[in-house]
Amino acid sequence: MVAKILDGRRIAGEIRNEVSDRIAAHTVRYGPIRLYAILVGHDRAARLYADSQRRRCLQAGVQHELVELPESTTQEQLLAEIDRLNADPGVTGIMLQMPLPPQIDPAAAQFRIDPYKDVEGVSPANIGWLFYDAPIIAPCTALAVVEMIHRSGVEVRGAEAVVVGQSRIVGRPIAMFLTTRMATVTACHIATRHLSAHTRRADILVVAVGKPNLIGADHVKPGAVVIDVGINSISVPGPDGQPLRKTVGDVKFDEVAAVASAITPVPGGVGPVTVAVLLKNVVEAARKQLAR
Ligand code: NAP
Repeated sequence: MVAKILDGRRIAGEIRNEVSDRIAAHTVRYGPIRLYAILVGHDRAARLYADSQRRRCLQAGVQHELVELPESTTQEQLLAEIDRLNADPGVTGIMLQMPLPPQIDPAAAQFRIDPYKDVEGVSPANIGWLFYDAPIIAPCTALAVVEMIHRSGVEVRGAEAVVVGQSRIVGRPIAMFLTTRMATVTACHIATRHLSAHTRRADILVVAVGKPNLIGADHVKPGAVVIDVGINSISVPGPDGQPLRKTVGDVKFDEVAAVASAITPVPGGVGPVTVAVLLKNVVEAARKQLAR
């Protein structure tokens, strides 16, 4: 079997097209939608990610403001900045660029964001509402995985789904989304014994760990749909023998593509869909704030 490639860039384009009309209509009627991204310190990856979000926002008609705070920012100063943005009616959405400097507790900072402005869907209120299948704003990456499964025509109801990785903002919300959509869900984590005994039962296998090459062909049931959320930067030998950086997922793509019925590539899979879903969440935040 040769797996169908679930093209994240194409799905992201579809989502952006759908939201751009909603953004335009909202802007004409109620004024601009504004996303504020808080960047603490000078982490290069965080800045690159913020810059790429900014481009996507501006293309879609969403204003993007980068709030830059120094590396020495204290927890109290960051929380005060979040409080200021929470209270400002001109701010539609707030997101915190990761990583944060070590003196700051990321969970405490995420928890401080108003759930109606929490466009990444990571505040405890939004995670908690997932149990009722009714988050104010859904966790971005988990929603991106669900969008990819849904838009690829994969039937979730009644499927065996296995989610590897149980982080608070990625793995667990994915498992909860699939549960509420009537899959039979197994959550695997660091203490799981015999990982492949679980993953080989999966009709839908979602891997969100952050370990390159964790999942090979012997972990996958023939015909399964495999969604690789992992993003890892590894070193590979370049043409001149010098090491090159390469981005890979958690799944051995070539060998798993030979047994799966569908698979997401890395890069070009869940990543671009997550950025498009962020835009969708920003519009959703704007709409829900009106009805608050
Ligand atoms: P995380 O907070 O480090 O969580 C990783 C999870 O994997 C934990 O639940 C951990 O289990 C589990 N785990 C670790 N080793 C394992 C093993 N050998 N077998 C089974 N489970 C294992 O990471 P995260 O924030 O969830 O992100 C996971 C990956 O997704 C990363 O590569 C990240 O870069 C990527 N990511 C991608 C997107 C996107 O848009 N594509 C967005 C967010 C994150 P324990 O909890 O039991 O320790």
